[in-house]
Amino acid sequence: MAKKYVYNFHEGNGSMRELLGGKGANLAEMMNLGMPVPYGFTVTTEACNQYYADDEKISVGIIAEIMNHLRDLEEESGKEFGSPENPLLVSVRSGARASMPGMMDTILNLGLNDEVVEGLATLTNNPRFAYDSYRRFIQMFADVVMGLSKAKFETVIDEIKEAKHVKLDTELDTDDLKLMVKKFKEFYREQLHDDFPTDPKEQLILAVEAVFKSWENPRAQYYRKMNDIPSSWGTAVNVQMMVFGNMGETSGTGVAFTRNPATGENKLYGEFLMNAQGEDVVAGIRTPQTIDHLKDIMPKAYEQFVDITKKLENHYKDMQDMEFTIENEKLFMLQTRNGKRTASAALKIACDMVAEGLLTKEEAILNVDPSQLDALLHPTFDGAALKDAQVITRGLPASPGAATGKVVFNAEDAKLAANAGHRVVLVRLETSPEDIEGMAAAQGVLTVRGGMTSHAAVVARGMGTCCVSGCGDIKVNEEEKYFTVNGLKFTENDYISLDGSTGNVYGEEVRTVPAKIVGDFETFMSWADEFRKLKVRTNADTPRDAKKAYEFGAEGIGLVRTEHMFFDGDRIKAIREMIVSKTVEQREKALAKLLPMQRGDFEKIYEAMHGLPVTIRYLDPPLHEFLPTEEEDIIALANEMNMGVADLKAVISNLHEFNPMMGHRGCRLAISYPEIAKMQTQAVIEAAINVNERKPHYHIVPEIMIPLVGDKNELAYVKKIVKETADQIIADKGVELTYKVGTMIEIPRAAVLADEIAEEAEFFSFGTNDLTQMTYGFSRDDAGSFLQDYYDKKVYEQDPFARLDQKGVGKLVKMAATLGRQTRPDIKLGICGEHGGDPSSIEFCHKVGLDYVSCSPFRVPIARLAASQAAIRNK
Ligand code: ADP
Ligand code: MG
Ligand code: MG
Repeated sequence: MAKKYVYNFHEGNGSMRELLGGKGANLAEMMNLGMPVPYGFTVTTEACNQYYADDEKISVGIIAEIMNHLRDLEEESGKEFGSPENPLLVSVRSGARASMPGMMDTILNLGLNDEVVEGLATLTNNPRFAYDSYRRFIQMFADVVMGLSKAKFETVIDEIKEAKHVKLDTELDTDDLKLMVKKFKEFYREQLHDDFPTDPKEQLILAVEAVFKSWENPRAQYYRKMNDIPSSWGTAVNVQMMVFGNMGETSGTGVAFTRNPATGENKLYGEFLMNAQGEDVVAGIRTPQTIDHLKDIMPKAYEQFVDITKKLENHYKDMQDMEFTIENEKLFMLQTRNGKRTASAALKIACDMVAEGLLTKEEAILNVDPSQLDALLHPTFDGAALKDAQVITRGLPASPGAATGKVVFNAEDAKLAANAGHRVVLVRLETSPEDIEGMAAAQGVLTVRGGMTSHAAVVARGMGTCCVSGCGDIKVNEEEKYFTVNGLKFTENDYISLDGSTGNVYGEEVRTVPAKIVGDFETFMSWADEFRKLKVRTNADTPRDAKKAYEFGAEGIGLVRTEHMFFDGDRIKAIREMIVSKTVEQREKALAKLLPMQRGDFEKIYEAMHGLPVTIRYLDPPLHEFLPTEEEDIIALANEMNMGVADLKAVISNLHEFNPMMGHRGCRLAISYPEIAKMQTQAVIEAAINVNERKPHYHIVPEIMIPLVGDKNELAYVKKIVKETADQIIADKGVELTYKVGTMIEIPRAAVLADEIAEEAEFFSFGTNDLTQMTYGFSRDDAGSFLQDYYDKKVYEQDPFARLDQKGVGKLVKMAATLGRQTRPDIKLGICGEHGGDPSSIEFCHKVGLDYVSCSPFRVPIARLAASQAAIRNK
């Protein structure tokens, strides 16, 4: 049988989101649940993929299937498409598998032309409504299908309003709207050198095609990349009978969440507008009313709606974000989906739903997106500083957080400033999907218009960016880049601060303080810890980082990069002295200066971790990284070292390598200069002995990690030096101390020969940064310049340095783990690359059976949750 590309809503259900998209699957599900959903059908994601496979053409077969379903829809609705007597109008709505709010475009009121609009006017006895629908349709169609910007049409609307001396579009009468339609069509012809299409079927197919096309528009591509959505998913298209919220004062439209998406409070939360359609609520054209008011205006519809929202939340077992329209007092549901929420709301909702018995702990854990936790780990305003700060105005607390930065007035400036390292707050009249990159770059977003469900609010909450919306006191001039409020003027270089939890706006920089894991966050994390199998360690090079990570729940350190300690003040001098040394004696003298510093650092790190395991990696980078490159610095160093400039230059040029990443680094340094490994061993062991003396209950067992090993003999050679040095110190001190020696697996050859290497190594830590670059054969530093071409041309979709390449690099990891365990069944296995903090890579580590992942301190809670989810999902 030929593939089926179109499904009536009756044929679908909630589990078919891959095929029908989230919107289509949920519309079908709501219909199955007996809820009032306007009839319609869904053109599948497979049809979208077929469209691209057919060189951007909708095949004859698919068009025929659409037309068949259109006939069914006519029958179900008792209306006729294109008929002036009893017209069927439809909406054409995109809907991908994952919800992409505001990313794809919707066309409403499709099926209108000059005859049909007259019919609609007569039928409804409401010509104003008919022409309002028509002008909206022309505007949306021209925008979405033909790419004529909505803004240009807004100018026409403004002109008409001005001529009439009115402010709101509801104040325009039928004649004004007729004039508007006429002007829109003229404008359309003028711009596109073609008449507005009058055949509804042609309109429909063009609209479907436009939705398919919108899957590849730059906004959608950017959103997909940000959220790891592959382009192969495609989008579905929903064609649905229109219901009208713009029929007059007994009609309206709104959006609502079953719980507060900003705080998580268990109370219906939403907004609506009477006599309005579609996006009016979120576009911020008129300020909407809160949902409670609906109770007074239309008690019956309100009650029915409340009832449905409860059913939906219980059914989906998650907070729902819903769209509804009321047509002449009759309620219709137009969408439901799991609502986007702030991180703190997500945790409150998870904890509440477990307490309410709606979710098990496992289900609650799976409901929270690990990467969202990041928002809770960043600073909040310092209470005292906040008290002293001047509130210049107040808006709606649309997305919590503390934002401080310089004011910028458009997305482009926000991006530029953020790239240059500045913190900025984006101030806009209102935001649109084009602003999304700028919103991500900014610390916070402040909008003059728009409610709690406006574009800015929804997108900011999704991204975890602080947002204050609907700040009506502000007069902003985006062109000339300034805003005024209560007699104050702010331009581009002024600082403001936003409190996304109160809606307060401050006219200055406000100090912030670090975050803590308390309350619901703490409860939730303790549940997550119950289920996880993987331990979570941190990569920390300083006592400060170690302390932070310990607070965030790190169970050890998976990687201390010792070289990072060498760059400050006196240390860099000592290490340079070591590098330019000509004899072993000179080198040992220089190393002796480094020893106490390094030992002191290790002591502090052990103490910060309260006796948890600490893996210390020996010197890894090529030595030339420590030497100056500028002429004046070279001269200064030569003087300091008491050597000739030419001499020093010779040393530097001797150290020059064509490809330093593959040069004299890692264990190769210890093989050339064993005294470096000796000094580091002395520091590691003595520090452990000292701390164990002070804190006997810590029982520190240092883990010494030799980097960049590709052969068993390399490790054996360095290990011998480590053992001789360590055992001597331990014997001299007459103490008991155990320690481990292991290696990083970061060279493909080491992965291939892991069974041999495990004869020497007591643990492996997968250094997936180097392992990725050596497996791919391109370096992390250079790949940036061409990987963009790979993404653009869809050769690659993911950055292998951010997300573990499970197919290739992952295969090496898996093989090395198996081989290592063959030789040494109790070998400890961990990962310490960037991937150790990436949720999908963590799931991979869980499946391979590693003992721990190690990541930067701020990702520790994320890793704890991701590891828990991996364990629950793979039970
Ligand atoms: P988005 O994914 O951007 O929310 P939607 O497809 O949900 O886009 O539609 C945009 C707006 O149009 C929403 O407010 C929605 O409720 C409204 N809408 C969509 N289809 C219909 C319809 N058949 N009748 C009335 N309103 C509709
Ligand atoms: Mg929607
Ligand atoms: Mg940001």
